[in-house]
Amino acid sequence: MASLDGHGLLDTLGRPLRNLRVSVTDRCNLRCQYCMPEEEYAWLRRSDLLTFEEIQRLVEIFTELGVDRVRLTGGEPLLRRDLPDLVRLLSAVPAVRDLAMTSNGVLLAGQAAALRSAGLHRVTVSFDTLRPDRFRALTRRDEHAAVMRGIEGVRAAGFTGLKLDTVVIRGVNDDELADLVEFARRVDAEVRFIEYMDVGGATHWSREQVVSRAEILERLERRYGQVAPIREHSSAPAERFRLGDGTTFGIIASTTTPFCRTCDRSRLTADGTWYLCLYAQRGIDLRTPLRDGASRDTLRALIASGWGRRRDRGAEERKDLEAIGHRGVLVQIEGLRQDPRLEMHTRGG
Ligand code: SAM
Repeated sequence: MASLDGHGLLDTLGRPLRNLRVSVTDRCNLRCQYCMPEEEYAWLRRSDLLTFEEIQRLVEIFTELGVDRVRLTGGEPLLRRDLPDLVRLLSAVPAVRDLAMTSNGVLLAGQAAALRSAGLHRVTVSFDTLRPDRFRALTRRDEHAAVMRGIEGVRAAGFTGLKLDTVVIRGVNDDELADLVEFARRVDAEVRFIEYMDVGGATHWSREQVVSRAEILERLERRYGQVAPIREHSSAPAERFRLGDGTTFGIIASTTTPFCRTCDRSRLTADGTWYLCLYAQRGIDLRTPLRDGASRDTLRALIASGWGRRRDRGAEERKDLEAIGHRGVLVQIEGLRQDPRLEMHTRGG
């Protein structure tokens, strides 16, 4: 049953509803092998995409139920025209304490200043390699220099707290861990190493390619000496660590060390389908009642009852499969073609 205590709405495992990831488009200008390896996809219908006003309306209702952190994502969020207008609408919602965006960086240089003046608080750039040739092989686009300019543009616009997210894949970029730590330090950012996940979209995933949290730490310890964990009370997915010289970095270990028990995140796709877990096969349609004129109370009740019934522990269940030797690709390409919302690029990572 849904319960509302001093912390807001809780799900069946006592987890509050706090983080909302809002995907604003399913389109992307890269084709990262771990996320969107195909060239063509079944795209969401344009007429189904929520307008900025519809997104704001839903976000306001979510905040009444406990959400205070919102992250814009995609696809590539900067492909959505006039994104600063949405940022302006959301930054005006008083309960949104943290308004962030995850981007691949390609278009950031030209938009960082407008996003900042519209009220965006923080930026995360997905950044998997320092080498342009590798970037081209991994993303099938020749945009490494644009991403570097984007990172510089974030700093020039005055953002602080820049994060660089790196999906670590064996044989692809796992020899760059220390180089990425050094690069992040130079640009006043913090790098977060993400274990390669077997989510929708990752149709080429194999367990052998996953570089585990333990292995990442071991490699960095070999290079830097002792790596100290930073103890903090947080539901954030990244565990943070400190090197001897004070440099910090994070690891997001969803594959080998899932954190479902503290997961307070849910995801709204660009067409208004609400997912309670990154691994969920089904979502809750919020667009239809919204466009049919449902009242604020009705929408709030729909969201509250969805969260109140939530029992998802997707990453833990995937890990359990490993013990019985059944962990493989989550959804085959045919399944993704039938339901584009299963894709990572549709539900926003
Ligand atoms: N286009 C934006 C970007 O590149 O940051 C936002 C969308 S992207 C789907 C969001 C995040 O999902 C990125 O940080 C990406 O690295 C991560 N991601 C996608 N597929 C993944 C996978 N198979 N394993 C781990 N992380 C993945």
